[in-house]
Amino acid sequence: MENSERALDEAAQLLVESRHVVALVGAGLSAESGVPTFRGPGGLWTKLGEPSMNGYQEFLGDPVRWWRDQQDQQADPDRTEFREAIERAEPNPGHYALAALERMGILKMTITQNVDDLHARAGQEMLAEIHGNRTKLRCISCESRWPRDHFEGQDYPIYCPECRGLVKSDTVMFGEPIPRGMLDLCFSQTEMCDCMIVCGTSATVYPAASFPQTVRERGGAFIEANPNPTPLSPIANVVLRGQNGQVLPALVERVKVLKG
Ligand code: NAD
Ligand code: ZN
Repeated sequence: MENSERALDEAAQLLVESRHVVALVGAGLSAESGVPTFRGPGGLWTKLGEPSMNGYQEFLGDPVRWWRDQQDQQADPDRTEFREAIERAEPNPGHYALAALERMGILKMTITQNVDDLHARAGQEMLAEIHGNRTKLRCISCESRWPRDHFEGQDYPIYCPECRGLVKSDTVMFGEPIPRGMLDLCFSQTEMCDCMIVCGTSATVYPAASFPQTVRERGGAFIEANPNPTPLSPIANVVLRGQNGQVLPALVERVKVLKG
């Protein structure tokens, strides 16, 4: 659907008037970088069905096996397709638009469900990666994080040098609780937020799906940027239909005009 000029103007106005803008991002932002979404038209799960939901229990039951499987990812062709796409991916104009809003001092935090590291590669610094970052490892006890190759050459399983907790990929697995510190950061940002821009997420996965509702309940505004309707569309103050890679740069241009 064609995006209306008026919706863009209204969204830009909301952004410049607000005190604490937070972005909530989903897989749709990276779709134009060639990373398939899971849900929605053309999504990986839409084609293949939902995967096993007990990945974290399997990791806890046999962490050594999990680490070995990481080395042997060719075993699962579905995962290979996703991994190769994510490894080839570069940030797209949607990522750069969010980075521009952050540099302008408008966007204070981005809560992202994406694990692909494309926000950081586009220059964003204020990130709450609620589902983790696939280029990092994390201790499941104290939440320390390291680059993916930090423990290369060590015997499996890997234990945290700080607290002896188990180390796994930072990416949150099915069945794994969202790390406490990360969740607290998201809740406190949502409390402070008076305008949330929700980009490329179907807003069905909790707790992230509840953040825009919380902002609305507290009297804040919520802008949805998604080419398709979502369960949250009816409560959005402004809806920007269209691909994030086109809509978000257009929004930045309008914000620049308003800021003068
Ligand atoms: P999701 O629920 O966020 O759904 C994808 C959404 O993207 C849909 O609403 C769809 O309409 C929208 N979309 C499609 N193309 C778009 C575009 N060009 N611009 C803007 N929006 C667009 O995400 P999901 O696919 O159900 O994934 C679930 C979880 O899996 C994610 O929250 C994430 O943790 C993980 N995941 C991560 C990545 C990544 O890191 N890039 C990719 C897929 C899935
Ligand atoms: Zn630890």
